[in-house]
Amino acid sequence: MSQHDLIVIGAGPGGYVAAIRAAQLGLNVGVIEKEGALGGTCLRVGCIPSKALLESSELYRLASDHLGEYGVKVEGVQLDLPGMMKRKESIVAGLCKGIEGLFRKNKITRYVGHGRIAAPGRVTVEGAQPQELTAKNILIATGSRSAPLKGVEVDDDLIGTSTEALKYPGVPGHLVVIGAGVIGLELGCVWSRLGSKVTVLEYLPRILPGMDTEIATEAQKIFTKQGLEFRLGMRVTGARVVNGRCVVECDGQPPIDCDRVLLAVGRIPNTDDLGLDKLNVARNQRGFIVVDKTFQTSIPGIYAIGDAIPGPMLAHKAEEEGVACAECLAGKHGHVNYDAIPGVVYTDPEIASVGKTEEQLKESGIPYRKGVFPFMANGRAKALGQTDGRVKMLAHTETDRILGVHIIGPRAGDLIAEAATAIEFGASSEDIARTSHAHPTLAEVIKEAAFAVDGRAIHM
Ligand code: FAD
Ligand code: NAD
Repeated sequence: MSQHDLIVIGAGPGGYVAAIRAAQLGLNVGVIEKEGALGGTCLRVGCIPSKALLESSELYRLASDHLGEYGVKVEGVQLDLPGMMKRKESIVAGLCKGIEGLFRKNKITRYVGHGRIAAPGRVTVEGAQPQELTAKNILIATGSRSAPLKGVEVDDDLIGTSTEALKYPGVPGHLVVIGAGVIGLELGCVWSRLGSKVTVLEYLPRILPGMDTEIATEAQKIFTKQGLEFRLGMRVTGARVVNGRCVVECDGQPPIDCDRVLLAVGRIPNTDDLGLDKLNVARNQRGFIVVDKTFQTSIPGIYAIGDAIPGPMLAHKAEEEGVACAECLAGKHGHVNYDAIPGVVYTDPEIASVGKTEEQLKESGIPYRKGVFPFMANGRAKALGQTDGRVKMLAHTETDRILGVHIIGPRAGDLIAEAATAIEFGASSEDIARTSHAHPTLAEVIKEAAFAVDGRAIHM
């Protein structure tokens, strides 16, 4: 008889959420995690520590440069970097411990070590206490790691990834970021606010590829005003440490000398050290595991979710898949609506989007109407002193169904939830326009953008 109904490999937001949901549904669940702490990339070295530093660094910037604008005089503002790091670490530790508590509450068995699939229904745990486990089903939730770049000699110190950039011991004089994606911008902003000169090298002629172009162009203008230097169309060919300094080489350009390098050119799935080749578990050309609608791989009884499978590499996408997979395993009808998964960049201002971009609609020949409204014309944004940005709503020309919402502006990451709910419920722009939004709130900008779809914005 199997020891478990389900064994999950990896305790990130995909794996731990799947384990909890499966246990709620009455399954006997075991989770194998190779790190000492639960929570995965997201809690340990991703979403949570980066947001803690974004918050601290933004408060430092406000106190140093902007509180005077609010009629608040502060003198002698000082950076306490060890204090910031300590706060970040205590938030991370608290949340990781919280998951341990949830595991105990849900009677989930935890195994520490490297999980490897020996055969369908059989998993080995390699580590201090090696053992072989049996289960009716196995779920791979092993996540991802930073992608390497040819010629860039990562030493996990001066030339490192996001993991190092979350714990630099001092503020680098000059930080070069390779890649103007989400990690490059969030962590570039952290260190720029704390005093670094930050140069972002991007291969493409734009920042934030994949996001709506109009919004990304506005973001670049705002971040440039804040002090970030963008060098677009730069193909990085190498980076190395020479005499304690970093040298970054780009095609046809003089080398750049700097104090630290952050490599942020994407992430690759952790699917190469699980024994999958021997079992013929199908993976695509980029190493992501191929799954069906129930998250089953090409081998019955083996499932996969999160960053290890195709789709946006986001914690909440992994969580949705974890819940849906557990429900399918328990005989229910788990489902993920990939059209309604929001994406947020936690810069200042924040950038958030859900649904289709304008470029995607044009490419697919879908007729749409567009409503745009700026935060500049919103009373709450004025009171906050945060008027940069806009909301853009895209709705189908004939049905008026909302197809995409893209926001750059204060608290965009919270505002996008209304748009995601609207898309999930199949709402029209008229539905949002007719919904009462409290005054004065930032959410009124969404209502005005919905009015603007029909050319009848009130406050413009
Ligand atoms: P992971 O969180 O990567 O977890 C996988 C776990 O599996 C890890 O704990 C790993 O140790 C373990 N593991 C791997 N192989 C084995 C094995 N063989 N045996 C045992 N255990 C194993 N997403 C957002 O939505 N919002 C954000 O703000 C955000 N910020 C981010 C900031 C940074 C700096 C980074 C790097 C990422 C960020 N992400 C963010 C992305 C997010 O962290 C991932 O999408 C998410 O963690 C994926 O969840 P997962 O469960 O699939 O994998
Ligand atoms: P990314 O895919 O967002 O951006 C990588 C950037 O690097 C792209 O702009 C790409 O064009 C550029 N690039 C690639 N090769 C290059 C080269 N040789 N020279 C210069 N530029 C090059 O990847 P990321 O920023 O590393 O983030 C990885 C993943 O983590 C993302 O998929 C993201 O979803 C997730 N993440 C999410 C959040 C969030 O939700 N707030 C935060 C951080 C990370």
